Amino acid sequence: MSISPDGVPVLGVVGAGQLARMMHQATIGLGIELRVLSTSPVDSAAVVLADSAVHVGSWDELDDLLAFAAGCDVVTFDHELVDPAHLIALEDAGHVLRPGAASELFAQDKRHQREQLAAAGFPVPRFRTVETADDLVAHGDETGWPVVAKAIRGGYDGRGVWMVDDEAAARALVAETSADGVQLLAEERVELAREVAVAVARRPGGEQVAWPVTETVQQDGICVELLVPAPVSEELAEEARQLAAAVVDHVGGVGVVAVELFVTTDGRLLVNELALRPHNSMHWTIEGARTSQFQNHVRAALDLPLGSTAMTAPAVATVNVLGPEDGTDPRTRLAGALAIEGVAVHLYGKSSRPGRKLGHVTAVADDHDTAVTRARQAAAALTGQDLS
Ligand code: ADP
Repeated sequence: MSISPDGVPVLGVVGAGQLARMMHQATIGLGIELRVLSTSPVDSAAVVLADSAVHVGSWDELDDLLAFAAGCDVVTFDHELVDPAHLIALEDAGHVLRPGAASELFAQDKRHQREQLAAAGFPVPRFRTVETADDLVAHGDETGWPVVAKAIRGGYDGRGVWMVDDEAAARALVAETSADGVQLLAEERVELAREVAVAVARRPGGEQVAWPVTETVQQDGICVELLVPAPVSEELAEEARQLAAAVVDHVGGVGVVAVELFVTTDGRLLVNELALRPHNSMHWTIEGARTSQFQNHVRAALDLPLGSTAMTAPAVATVNVLGPEDGTDPRTRLAGALAIEGVAVHLYGKSSRPGRKLGHVTAVADDHDTAVTRARQAAAALTGQDLS
């Protein structure tokens, strides 16, 4: 790492969404300088940083990435959308990327992730690459219908994931996606008991710490609630932690790596997705753990000692705040949420649109029921819902 002349490290974040905003919040106490490459001056992180720390440019343009990286000691990310070839070009130009280009590919390309992890012996759903509609049909016939189709690149929050009921639907989907230039992966539809995530923070030398196993509750492909510790047996939790630790070592991730796992109805764990950055499933760590994912991501990226991941209370629940249907802004309803005991509100400063992730609320409590009830009440208060 080429520390800047005055010795104060400059951490660059490609992307200026809510993750970069919360990374910034975590760096303030460390006194280090955070800069963002932002597509506009009004992105979530850009509006809370000094103008001099906001480099307006496109993460899709190599020249913009190179110009941004030139002012940083270490570059990290708040999304995985940068072209893999651009990441390699940045490394070839001598810039320090954490995570690096090779490990980032595991989050960018679902086929690469599945192929590499399966070859290394990690449990993943049965999958096959879709070159033609026949491949998707064959996978449905072999593993059972409905079958899952996924965009290999660029999907998020369930966009890019399709449950395909039958052969006719498979043929229609492949016709539509191939016309749009979207490449697909076919995957068995797994019978899910629940979904959990284990996040690890890993330093360049391999030292890693993991937060407790987190249940992620999904609705329509979007994670809506988190519950910690996940209500699973201690044996399963231990298995999940060991699996995540081994996957993260295999991938060579640096910073926070979130490993999303399926728990099948017959009690097996399968790796679903990897995120090589702070992740929505770990937002509870801001209040619920001694060191948040954002703080440990920054520490790991700068190769500094990692903080404790122990919980601050027996139970934590987080509920995402999604834009209400009527388009109103949760920032106008703070009072109702803040009146609820044990609740912390995080709003990302984004304009309200129905279904858009605008923030989250976290409740720490002595038991799960209390934490979940309070967090749901707070989210409902912010979105003007009536829970009764
Ligand atoms: P995204 O990149 O959009 O987060 P995921 O691969 O995590 O996509 O899929 C989104 C959600 O769809 C998952 O959280 C899960 O609920 C469901 N899902 C994805 N793959 C499968 C599968 N093979 N079997 C059953 N459900 C699945």
